[in-house]
Amino acid sequence: MSNIHELQYLKENLETLKADGVYRKLPVLEGPNEAEVILNGKKVINLSSNNYLGFANHPRMKAAAIQAIEKYGVGSGAVRTIIGNMDLHEALDKKLAEFKREEAVMSFQSGFNCNAGAIQAITADGDLIISDELNHASIIDGSRLSKAARAVYKHSDMNDLERVLKERRGAYKNCLIITDGVFSMDGDIAPLPDIVNLAERYECMTYVDDAHGSGVLGESGRGTVDHFGLHGRVDFTIGTLSKAIGVIGGYVAGSETMRDWLSHRGRPLLFSTSLPPAAVGAILEALDMLMTSTEYTDRLWANAQYFKKGMSALGYDIGHSQTPITPVMIGEEAKTMQFSKTLFDLGVYVSPIVFPTVPKGTGRVRVMVTAAHTTEQLDRAVEIFEKAGKQLNILK
Ligand SMILES: *Cc1c(COP(=O)(O)O)cnc(C)c1O
Repeated sequence: MSNIHELQYLKENLETLKADGVYRKLPVLEGPNEAEVILNGKKVINLSSNNYLGFANHPRMKAAAIQAIEKYGVGSGAVRTIIGNMDLHEALDKKLAEFKREEAVMSFQSGFNCNAGAIQAITADGDLIISDELNHASIIDGSRLSKAARAVYKHSDMNDLERVLKERRGAYKNCLIITDGVFSMDGDIAPLPDIVNLAERYECMTYVDDAHGSGVLGESGRGTVDHFGLHGRVDFTIGTLSKAIGVIGGYVAGSETMRDWLSHRGRPLLFSTSLPPAAVGAILEALDMLMTSTEYTDRLWANAQYFKKGMSALGYDIGHSQTPITPVMIGEEAKTMQFSKTLFDLGVYVSPIVFPTVPKGTGRVRVMVTAAHTTEQLDRAVEIFEKAGKQLNILK
């Protein structure tokens, strides 16, 4: 008889992953997240980080983090509602609100925490949450924590959203439409002006998770709402401080009423310790950098365009991205895994994205170009993509 502590059922699940060709070990990064890195002991061009602006190891960011440590120590010591709300955290919320051109911001420990905390706090039994079918996992999890009913519309399909509104809106009190601002797997932008128009016609609130739009879209990275000029018409905007901003954390931007309510009912804020001072110090510096210059976002977009041009010229299917996220479509799961491995052996790291993260048969490697890549590195990456594509008969 097997011992219960052997976790036999999990071992069997792992065997299934191996049989499906999707089993993997966690890659190990030696040193900072930069344009070229040592990964699993090999020097490779890094095309897989969310460090869009190259801030994660920026000298100004590091200096600001160290300065914050000297003044405030390494930990905040409590949740924000007890004694972990330093003047530093208040300064962060104020500065973020200014950057986002919104009335108020409440920051959390991560973007994931925002969705886990905010959705359940602002909806209740008798309400309806309407969600794009490709919304991020943290939105799905966050919605499950709410007592509201849930409905899903086809990806960015406004006819389908209106169908859901017609069929279901009338039976509920409040209604919240949730969408990613930028969809992380394909790099497409949500049709936000249309969503907001529909929402207003059907008296719904809107909630945009702008994790991949923050620091990328809009003036100097102010996000998708800024990109479309929709300030004041989106009720809740989630941003992350862990991607383009290069540190860790997340925030909800919107009204003073939102902030006041989340300070009472945003559970990750009440039951989990606030951001460490080093993180907040560095984030404040990042916001200064973005608010005084567009050079970082300009370079990000120029690099992305340059890389996409090279890949299209080779004949790769790079999907319909409207942002620096560049999916290279492969299809079959095992082939996608093999393509990623071949690229790695040749000197480029791009992570494979397969089912269940994306639908079966739509495996891809997802390229994330950053502002920190040099033209030489991008040229070298395209050459390696050509070699790998020919080796695996993806390119002719
Ligand atoms: C990455 C991501 C998150 C999580 O943000 P973290 O700050 O890394 O926790 C939430 N939503 C979306 C759409 C994301 O892409």
